[in-house]
Amino acid sequence: MFADLHLHSSFSDGTYSPEELAGYAARYGLGVVALTDHDSVEGCERMAAACLRRGVEFVPGTELTAELDGHELHLLGYYVDTRHPCLLHALAKFQEVRQNRIREMVGRLNRLNVPLAAEAVFALANCRAPGRPHVARALVQGGFCTNLDEAFERYLKKRRPAWVPKFKMSALEAVDLIHHAGGVAVLAHPGLNCVDDLIPDLVAAGMDGVECFHTKHSTATTEHYLLVAEQYGLLVTGGSDCHGMSKGKPLIGTIRLPCDYLPPLKARRCLRQAGLPQAAPAFAPAEPALIVFQ
Ligand SMILES: [Zn+2]
Ligand SMILES: [Zn+2]
Repeated sequence: MFADLHLHSSFSDGTYSPEELAGYAARYGLGVVALTDHDSVEGCERMAAACLRRGVEFVPGTELTAELDGHELHLLGYYVDTRHPCLLHALAKFQEVRQNRIREMVGRLNRLNVPLAAEAVFALANCRAPGRPHVARALVQGGFCTNLDEAFERYLKKRRPAWVPKFKMSALEAVDLIHHAGGVAVLAHPGLNCVDDLIPDLVAAGMDGVECFHTKHSTATTEHYLLVAEQYGLLVTGGSDCHGMSKGKPLIGTIRLPCDYLPPLKARRCLRQAGLPQAAPAFAPAEPALIVFQ
């Protein structure tokens, strides 16, 4: 049985509804899936219900953008209590920051003679955690760019004229917030952020695991982070980071994490929810994860 523990829905910048994701999970034979929307847990309730109907195990989660020593990194929070007041308060704050950032980006576009309205972006996003992909989609929809790549290249990529720096919480605070909400904190796609030097500090802060298997990790990168996980006694996770279609096919299920990795994650969840200090069992999977290239 396999898992995909990194999925985005239309409650952040994914294009599928929670129900569509649950449908694909069942169709692709995934036994376990996690929803990890950016700065949101709003889709978790619907996805839990949809997964239940389809006999797929569901892991509630979120993905927080954070920084440490000036480097951006993403932290996945698995098994967080999606009704925890402190978590919901923090997420509401991050969502407000996201909405303000959209307004700033649109303001810059307007000054570049691109008459895009912030309302058009919000209407298209139709969620509380809008992001740059929504601005890109609105630029294409409004006929200002021919495709998403052009929107990013011309306007939205880092240091392009409509790019606005993003507020990020400290990574140590993010780990604390996830733990406070009873969750397990996992460093997302470390291979994309070049944050190896920060791992000791994150481990010292109580970070629980590392996402070794990711669609954009090469085999060598995956092997490197499996060694890092072993070195620091970190849990191993993996997921496709599906935001919708990629190269004509849904990305969900392109990482098939053996479910052998789940019991240690669940054991850590029990420790976190009991407020106990972490135990770090060395763990070797029975079979390696499969990466399906579509
Ligand atoms: Zn991410
Ligand atoms: Zn993600």
